[in-house]
Amino acid sequence: MNEYLLTVDQGTTSTRAILFNHDGQIVAKAQREINNYFPHEAWVEQDALEIYVSTMDVINELKVRTNLRAEQVAAIGITNQRETTIVWDKETGLPIYNAIVWQSKQTKDICEKFRDKEEMIKEKTGLILNPYFSASKIRFILDNVPGAQERAEKGELMAGTVDSWLLYKLTKGEVHATDYSNASRTLLFNIHDLKWDEDLCKLFNIPMCMLPEVHDSSYNYGKTTILAHNHLVPITGIAGDQQASLFGQNCFAPGDVKNTYGTGCFVLMNTGSEVIKSKYGLLSTIAWGVNGKVEYALEGSVLIGGASIQWLRDQLKMIENAAQSEEVVKSIDNEENIYVVPAFVGLGTPYWDDHVRGAMFGLTRGTTYKNIVKATLQAIAYQSKDVIEAMKKDVHCKLKTLKVDGGATANHYLMQFQADILNTKIKRPVVAETTALGAAYLAGLCVGYYKDIEEIKLIHQYKDHYKPQMSSTERKTKYDGWKRAVKAARVF
Ligand code: ADP
Repeated sequence: MNEYLLTVDQGTTSTRAILFNHDGQIVAKAQREINNYFPHEAWVEQDALEIYVSTMDVINELKVRTNLRAEQVAAIGITNQRETTIVWDKETGLPIYNAIVWQSKQTKDICEKFRDKEEMIKEKTGLILNPYFSASKIRFILDNVPGAQERAEKGELMAGTVDSWLLYKLTKGEVHATDYSNASRTLLFNIHDLKWDEDLCKLFNIPMCMLPEVHDSSYNYGKTTILAHNHLVPITGIAGDQQASLFGQNCFAPGDVKNTYGTGCFVLMNTGSEVIKSKYGLLSTIAWGVNGKVEYALEGSVLIGGASIQWLRDQLKMIENAAQSEEVVKSIDNEENIYVVPAFVGLGTPYWDDHVRGAMFGLTRGTTYKNIVKATLQAIAYQSKDVIEAMKKDVHCKLKTLKVDGGATANHYLMQFQADILNTKIKRPVVAETTALGAAYLAGLCVGYYKDIEEIKLIHQYKDHYKPQMSSTERKTKYDGWKRAVKAARVF
């Protein structure tokens, strides 16, 4: 009877429900866009109720479209935009402020107040002190909603990331919990002791009673009647989107790496039971907890990845759609050695430079828009290499294979160039929705839908393989050029 796993994939731009069969294939999916609000410059907020309503909507649509019966679903997994923070009233279940989205910079000043505690925060959480993470967002809400601090102290308010919020709503307020991967993005969780950290909660003046219980990513969190009022379906998998994708990509062994090429790029490396402290600007984070065992990851990010292709399309009008970028590159008949540094919002790992802005280098009278398109695609690969090189230095190892997913992996030119410039094989899975798949695998493991990870490995399939073809001299010349371009952009 239990034929399927259902994942709720709550992302920054949309909420999706995806139904998977035992082979990890997509049976059906439904999607709703989510509104983003920008009340002030660099603030990004969402309506927490809209997040929940969109979740109900997509589950309903899926049900109706596939004639799905609740008994056919073995378990539900949740994966979510990470760090986005919601505070709600325990009694009414209503949010007291909008969800503050991970991208929002509205808590910059709050973070600055704790600058002298940066090292301590990093040591305990593996993260950097930055508005990105949840602690300063909770602080902001408690500061800005009248009476909130007092109510929180009395135990009347609850805080959580999106997974925790959805879990609470889906279980009709019975369960207030989160998983290790999401907790590790709050700046309040000690990734070594696996507990909410008293010192950090004190520092941010956040009452610990507001925070959810923390469990394994594959865990029986509770049951929901969302699929049918008379049938309970267990929610048994929760993980933040990048960690879920690491799991969905079967990066189960230390040293396994995946890169997701979306708006930005997120590179994660499984580091097993070890927390690796980066010397090169990477974050240490919890990958997941499964069977009572927590595993860690190193994480680096490229701020502008596929977004640079949107820039070519929308601002420069060089292409009509993202896919055209590949055709343009194929039609080039002149060789130009140019570089585009798409530092539109600064540069992420390993530079962490907020001040640098975009630049182009090496232009000649012969440069055409086609060369610019090509150099922009190459920049995605160069930036990813920067992150991966930093990782390799931190763990002193070689990278055998890079597993890839995300929208921009549809571009074969980009993938081949990435393999060439990294001198590493690249594998792309058959099921592109690795984030949702990861949450489904986690949910399935908990209920015995999958016996163990070995069974998951057997069903997981890859379709595209790219092998490096570039000579080492050419690779070195090209990457040296990129390094010079970044350096020049940074001193401008
Ligand atoms: P997100 O989850 O961040 O919204 P997606 O994984 O949906 O991102 O990927 C969308 C991004 O991928 C966009 O920035 C888009 O420009 C880029 N993209 C999509 N198709 C291609 C392509 N064929 N070549 C290059 N970039 C692409």
